[in-house]
Amino acid sequence: MKIKVAGRAGFCFGVKRAINIAEDALKELKGGDRIYSFGALIHNPQVVEGLLKKGLQVISGHEKIKSGTVIVSSHGAPIEALEEIKKNRVRLIDATCPFVKYAQNIVKGLKKDGYRIIIIGDSDHPEVKALKNIAGKDRLSKKIGVISQTTQNKENYINEIKKILNEDFGEVKIFNTICKDTSKRQLATRRLLKDCDLMIVIGGKNSANTKRLWQICKESGVDSFHIETEPELKKEWFKGKSCVGITSGASTPDLMVKKIIERIRRF
Ligand code: SF4
Repeated sequence: MKIKVAGRAGFCFGVKRAINIAEDALKELKGGDRIYSFGALIHNPQVVEGLLKKGLQVISGHEKIKSGTVIVSSHGAPIEALEEIKKNRVRLIDATCPFVKYAQNIVKGLKKDGYRIIIIGDSDHPEVKALKNIAGKDRLSKKIGVISQTTQNKENYINEIKKILNEDFGEVKIFNTICKDTSKRQLATRRLLKDCDLMIVIGGKNSANTKRLWQICKESGVDSFHIETEPELKKEWFKGKSCVGITSGASTPDLMVKKIIERIRRF
């Protein structure tokens, strides 16, 4: 059985950057200091667990933080919650991915120019929540601005745009806010699907970009499994298979991918 690994693997730029920011802040941690992340810093439970052991604490935004340092996660955070935090003697460090910031700035501009903003994404995801918070309440404008969550599947996005174009509108502005890393990972996964009869998707069960990769694999009809760690692998998945493709989300460490490949080799 062949094992093929997607050309794009390991942490993306935004995840690497957020982890470095948090680790630098944790190194400076002195007795009595507290460092919080606003929401999970990245969507990989094993990596977040490692940071918790080093002293990071995760908050949801409802807590009253009076002092210490708050790191905004790679997904960004609702502006109202950040304004609330800033009222206290709290140091705020922004680890929002610059590609997420780019989408936020587009929403700010559209709002200022009176557009009705449509965000295509998972409404409960922190990135989308923050974008919705910037966009404010729906307005009845015939001018429509459309953006997508940075980790959206391009085909989903195009399908949703087609539906919007059937509406009664005066003007539509469409932005491609899917980040390059997401597009490249999806492309690399699609390439593997041409050769493989089994796909293993590695990444946080709460990771939007990993779930998109899994969706692409499932929709292709190839047997596919989404796992976070190597103990989840089952020997029977590999019976009679000739090629297994390995793809991973933007917040999956290289080490985890290596451990999973090792376990598959032992099978
Ligand atoms: S997947 Fe893209 S938008 Fe999300 S953190 Fe990585 S680089 Fe940034």
